[in-house]
Amino acid sequence: MPVPERSEYSYSRFKSNRQSTSKEVGLMSNHLFQVPLTKLQGVGPQKAGELHALGISTVGHLIEYYPFRYEDYRVRELRDVKDGERITIQGTIAAPPAMQRYGGKTRLICRVTVDQTLVTAVWFNRAFLKEQLVVGREITLTGKWDQRRKHLTVADSEFPDRGAAKSGTLQPVYSVGGNITQAAMRKLIAKALSQFGAHIPEILPPELLEQHALIARAEAISGIHNPDNTKNGQEARRRMVYEELFLFQLTLQAYRATHMKKADGLVHKVNNEEIRAFVGQLPFALTDSQKQVINEILHDMKQPFVMNRLLQGDVGAGKTVVAAVALYATVRAGHQGALMVPTEILAEQHARSLGKLFEPLGIQIGLLTGSLTDRKRRDLIASLQMGLLDIVVGTHALIQEDVFFRSLGLVVTDEQHRFGVNQRSILRRKGMNPDVLSMTATPIPRTLAITVFGDMEVSTIRERPKGRKSIKTYSVKHEMMDRVLGFIRKEAELGRQTFFICPLIEESEKLDVQNAIDLHIQLSLALPQLAIGLLHGRMSAAEKEETMAAFASGRTNVLVSTTVIEVGVDVPNATLMIVMDADRFGLSQLHQLRGRVGRGEHQSYCILIADPKSENGQERMRAMTETDDGFEISRRDLEIRGPGEFFGTKQSGMPEFRLANLLNDFEVLEQARDDAAALTSKEAFWSSPTYAPLRDYLAREARLREEPLD
Ligand code: ADP
Ligand code: MG
Repeated sequence: MPVPERSEYSYSRFKSNRQSTSKEVGLMSNHLFQVPLTKLQGVGPQKAGELHALGISTVGHLIEYYPFRYEDYRVRELRDVKDGERITIQGTIAAPPAMQRYGGKTRLICRVTVDQTLVTAVWFNRAFLKEQLVVGREITLTGKWDQRRKHLTVADSEFPDRGAAKSGTLQPVYSVGGNITQAAMRKLIAKALSQFGAHIPEILPPELLEQHALIARAEAISGIHNPDNTKNGQEARRRMVYEELFLFQLTLQAYRATHMKKADGLVHKVNNEEIRAFVGQLPFALTDSQKQVINEILHDMKQPFVMNRLLQGDVGAGKTVVAAVALYATVRAGHQGALMVPTEILAEQHARSLGKLFEPLGIQIGLLTGSLTDRKRRDLIASLQMGLLDIVVGTHALIQEDVFFRSLGLVVTDEQHRFGVNQRSILRRKGMNPDVLSMTATPIPRTLAITVFGDMEVSTIRERPKGRKSIKTYSVKHEMMDRVLGFIRKEAELGRQTFFICPLIEESEKLDVQNAIDLHIQLSLALPQLAIGLLHGRMSAAEKEETMAAFASGRTNVLVSTTVIEVGVDVPNATLMIVMDADRFGLSQLHQLRGRVGRGEHQSYCILIADPKSENGQERMRAMTETDDGFEISRRDLEIRGPGEFFGTKQSGMPEFRLANLLNDFEVLEQARDDAAALTSKEAFWSSPTYAPLRDYLAREARLREEPLD
């Protein structure tokens, strides 16, 4: 039988699979996902309906409905327990119980000997137990321990002579609702496992199971639900965490592998001499780090595959000039370049600075933003299409609308968290296959870079331009406003400028704007001798541009602004960044804001005005005052917020894992990445029946992403 072409294979898969939603979890190739719940003994249409409401629509879903935590009923020794802990202990009833009634409620008290200690067990509203508490009888008690009084408030008790079911185990706790109780869910899952557990198929290839000594899928899933002894529970979790991270990485690596193989990208003919000459006429010498990443980028651009590279570097590390060199290379190779940025302010700034750099060399630059007049826009698009413009700078709309190029060679995105798979496919649908360079100033710890950008190559600028002084950062209380104003005055006397950032109101841009307007009035009154500008998101593009231009040229001393200036703005003469209500800002945002100063030769300062009562806020202020290294900041951010929140939610492409926890499981993630990369680069992976379940999985993922692995 001939081996199908890879593209043929995935396309046919893509079309033949049935419809599904992204809510579906687990492995669709697994036939258990086709078995209706009513096939379970004792489950009729009504119960099936209730399960459906929890997102469980088939036996497969039920089997993979994992507990979100466990209740620990393993028996402990009293000498190991701490005050306030929830514990399970076993003992002998030492004396007849006493019962108290109060206001319709009951309290049952009984002395129990545990490890030769006399413990007082207390039940609330369990009057029916009284008869069963017979002196000399063994009992297992679970509840909250009061160390000083040797007192246990009982949540759960069992008698070993009646076959204590929970004692000694870890009990799964599921997310339940409606008529389905915790106990009912445990029973349903137990039933599903006993009826269908033997049919849970393996998905991982034998060599990986063996290499990492992983237990079989069926055994692991059963162990997740019944981790009766720690060993089994741990092994089950280890196996499923590996699987989860491996499958995630497999998707990324499969994209990467098909990508590299396809060789349908532009081969940029780069003339190294020309590049060297261009770099030589820059107003400064590049740092070694900048040279290094430029080499990596140019190397990719010369290759026949489509570049998909992430450039990360701390704020002020000098990413723009790296982008400029890459854009220069694409233009010299006879193509066009696009620079895509998140805000109009940034687009204008980049157009201005690139213009200064390129226009003397006869390279034409255009600016495309949402606020162009129809007429100008039409002209601009026409020039792009005819190839009269070499480089276009713009916002997101740049690549998404009716914009076509004569020959788009390179797309650079600045400060964009992720130039996702979807946008790449938009470009491709227009018949363009440009190289892509994504730049980010959110330095990501290596592990997370692997997670989120696993399908990209990563370049990092590690050093900052020489002679940069670190930014002195202080955290102060609101009461110190007078001194802050004095500081602004002093910097202005030295000819320096100040950014003053307004508090951030989560839900309301309107309130943000009001805050900025109020602050602007206050500062204008307090500092009558200074020129104070105002910038916020509700101003027209022309007003914003005018305000920015006034500040950039030094006509205004102070710029009061909402966070619209957060990313990318470059005014080297600004030396003072003041953030009002800094505790309302996230750490990486504060770091971004601080990065607006310290861009020139002068000593710069950052003053964070924060509420000392906000504990979490103070932790962030501490991080800010202790370091100005972006990588360290993001490490702290990760520590404070946890990986889930680290990137914000959806826009980041940060996946949510069901069992894996990136803080603890990052070594597994790295292993999974290496394994997935190795596997997808093997020809056998795409043809051998051994890997059919994995290929099925990929086909389904591709469908969910709406981009087949072509
Ligand atoms: P970011 O990485 O935050 O985008 P920019 O590209 O805006 O940083 O660069 C910050 C400032 O540093 C700019 O004013 C830029 O001209 C300057 N710069 C960049 N590279 C160097 C260098 N090698 N030496 C001196 N200054 C540099
Ligand atoms: Mg920048």
